[in-house]
Amino acid sequence: MTVAVIGAGMAGAAAARTLQMAGLQVEVFDKGRAVGGRMSSKRNGEGYLDLGAQYFTARAAPFKQQVEQWLAEGIVSSWQADCYKFELGQLTGSDDQTSRFIGIPSMHSPVKALLADITIYPDCRISRLRYLQNSTATDTSGWYLFDQHNNKFGPYQALILTLPPVQLQTLLATAFQPAEDGYDDVHQLISQIQPQVLLPCWAVNLQLAEPLQTRADAVFVKEGNLSWLARQNSKPGRASNADNWLLHFSPQCSALYLRTEPAQLIALAKAELELIFQQALSIGNALTHRWLYAQINPAVNQVKPDYHPGLKLALAGDWLMGGRVENAYLSGVTAAREVLADV
Ligand SMILES: Cc1cc2nc3c(=O)[nH]c(=O)nc-3n(C[C@H](O)[C@H](O)[C@H](O)COP(=O)(O)OP(=O)(O)OC[C@H]3O[C@@H](n4cnc5c(N)ncnc54)[C@H](O)[C@@H]3O)c2cc1C
Repeated sequence: MTVAVIGAGMAGAAAARTLQMAGLQVEVFDKGRAVGGRMSSKRNGEGYLDLGAQYFTARAAPFKQQVEQWLAEGIVSSWQADCYKFELGQLTGSDDQTSRFIGIPSMHSPVKALLADITIYPDCRISRLRYLQNSTATDTSGWYLFDQHNNKFGPYQALILTLPPVQLQTLLATAFQPAEDGYDDVHQLISQIQPQVLLPCWAVNLQLAEPLQTRADAVFVKEGNLSWLARQNSKPGRASNADNWLLHFSPQCSALYLRTEPAQLIALAKAELELIFQQALSIGNALTHRWLYAQINPAVNQVKPDYHPGLKLALAGDWLMGGRVENAYLSGVTAAREVLADV
């Protein structure tokens, strides 16, 4: 049995690995050039800058076990960040004792490790699906995938989709024609997906000409335009002599500035950093990245749709389980088990 997984982020990688361990053939597709999805880092001279997920935590036993293994293999490391918070105009130390982990040397390293020995098609945006219930003279039954160049892949006996919700709805809508068997099931599934469950986020990295004078490695920002900032060179394995500060704008502010020019965001980010640390700063280099679908909208209650045995179609992704890297991993394992229980 061959299974296709669309999306090579943490959810897709965990699903693919679980299926491969159970002896199934798996092929993974991603529109990106590299694996990792929202766990992406950008090469910067001799090190990496984390533009998406900044770290991850491990609470559930199966993920804790996986993290232990990655730690032993040197694929992840713990980040003992000196965390502060900025609230009511004050920067104060935070007493939180959370254990934080990062990929080594880049945030996507654990995803890459899960996908070792698995066939991956990078730069492959799946733009159309087709489910053939019965074999024809030319095609065997199963799932067929078509990429942006109309290349055809398949048939696959099961399909796991790990796309963010808006992209998932669009893709699922291509699978069946009206009145075909499966059309109603898939459209019911589409109606259960809440498109606003993921909110946008602008990320801005400021490389300072002179190091900032502070003990803080990271700040949870509770007011103003930002939600988070972190000194990237405080992370283990991110070799860099320069002082790099990665700032995330809050979801509200990111939505407001969605179409703003990067130069304007960089100026705004500098002003925010100066306000929080009460220091005048000079910027050496800056880069921006806009995430259209970043983190969970707490106001939306997304319930995970049921697995569709008739279609051998499973869904995974952080947003089906409340967000975060850990839940992306758990959702991938769950989706793979749904498929395995149905073979
Ligand atoms: C700015 C930001 C900060 C964050 N901070 C944290 C944090 O500190 N801690 C934490 O735990 N989590 C954090 N997260 C969330 C964390 O990154 C996600 O929970 C996790 O990476 C999601 O994994 P996933 O596999 O579900 O989705 P994704 O990583 O989004 O993977 C989906 C994949 O599908 C691919 N894809 C989409 N459409 C197609 C298509 N048509 N064809 C082929 N491929 C397609 C995408 O390229 C992507 O690689 C953050 C995220 C962002 C963006």
